[in-house]
Amino acid sequence: MNQSIRVRYAPSPTGMPHVGNIRTALFNWLFARHHGGTFIVRIEDTDASRKVEGALEDILESLRWLGLDWDEGPEVGGECGPYFQSQRLDLYQKHARQLVEAGHAYPCFCSPQRLDDMRREQTQRKQPPGYDRHCRELPQGEIDRLRDGGTVPVVRFKIPLQGQTNFGDLIRGDVTFENSTLDDFVILKSDGYPTYHLANVVDDHLMRISHVLRADEWLSSTPKHKLLYDALDYKPPYWAHLPMILGPDRAKLSKRHGAASLTEFRDRGYLPQAMTNFLALLGWSLDDRTELMDRKELVEHFSLERVGKTGAIFGMDKLDWMNGVYLRKLTTPELTDLAMPFLERDLASSIPRPLDREYVLRIMPLLQERIRTLGKAHLPSGDAPSGGELPELAEFFFPDNLQHDPERLRGKKLSPEGAREALG
Ligand code: GLU
Repeated sequence: MNQSIRVRYAPSPTGMPHVGNIRTALFNWLFARHHGGTFIVRIEDTDASRKVEGALEDILESLRWLGLDWDEGPEVGGECGPYFQSQRLDLYQKHARQLVEAGHAYPCFCSPQRLDDMRREQTQRKQPPGYDRHCRELPQGEIDRLRDGGTVPVVRFKIPLQGQTNFGDLIRGDVTFENSTLDDFVILKSDGYPTYHLANVVDDHLMRISHVLRADEWLSSTPKHKLLYDALDYKPPYWAHLPMILGPDRAKLSKRHGAASLTEFRDRGYLPQAMTNFLALLGWSLDDRTELMDRKELVEHFSLERVGKTGAIFGMDKLDWMNGVYLRKLTTPELTDLAMPFLERDLASSIPRPLDREYVLRIMPLLQERIRTLGKAHLPSGDAPSGGELPELAEFFFPDNLQHDPERLRGKKLSPEGAREALG
């Protein structure tokens, strides 16, 4: 493999990226760097209604924090730009037209009302949901009449009525879907925006993507993509669907498991080098034993052959342990510099600020052995943190905070005077 390796991370700015999203970015980056290929970031922002303010910035910041530099994409540009799908609408419209002309797609004039009724009937009759192909064979005269009447259609893809769609997956092997289970999906909406399927395929082709590495949840979209590539007469990329990330209870990972957005992990005081190491082991391993690997080693050893098929377990305890290991690798001055903002933020407010760096530097060797994170957790689940939080442990060294309740210092049978005496 060589320079022609081109992979992409294609996030939609519909929320703050979580560990699953960034694991996908990391695997793409490692694959590109291992093979001396190109890592592209493409923003899939065609669904304006789901756009979340600040998500794009958070995505880019998460990548930067982990050091996942991109060769083409937002801010850096590149020969296949623009890298925002919302700026490429004419390309998708052109492809949709081309598919209609070639008989692979058709305009659909069904009203939302009709589609709703259809779905309701399907549910009542316990039929699988799906478009009933009402507009698939409309005569041209009817199409012209509806258009002239001012109805703007969507464009749907014509799934072959019989047969199967096969494709190879570098992780899962051969995958087959019965065409009868696939819906005549929309490729272009009536507002001229493409759906994910069309935009994704058109861009992967135009950006000369060689390998699509993405989460398992997209596997069911892949037969649709394969059919689109065939209909457009484009060579499909290699696909590799990465295993799901699960909580320790083997349920799909959620906030309940302590998983948060990447920048939340940063704000809790995890180191990017620990996070990178930890994420790399979510679905990949060198030899089922080696846990600690720095970026250089990860790049050197990463391969799709060692990506597993079964779900990867996200263990907070393991992450905390690993972060502790990386914190201990730092020199005391390095650790102190990193720790200062966390201590400023998280130590009890009764401790006077600003903190004295020299003092923190002196106490740090006593703490370095025991800490696991630099900040306090503020876990979304409300669970108690697992311990080893620097501010918690460091508080002991800031006596101003020792607000002893006098009642608790005196033994049950002691008078205040006796207690004072006993304490010396
Ligand atoms: N925009 C999709 C996503 O959020 C991309 C999926 C893909 O890689 O094809 O995650």
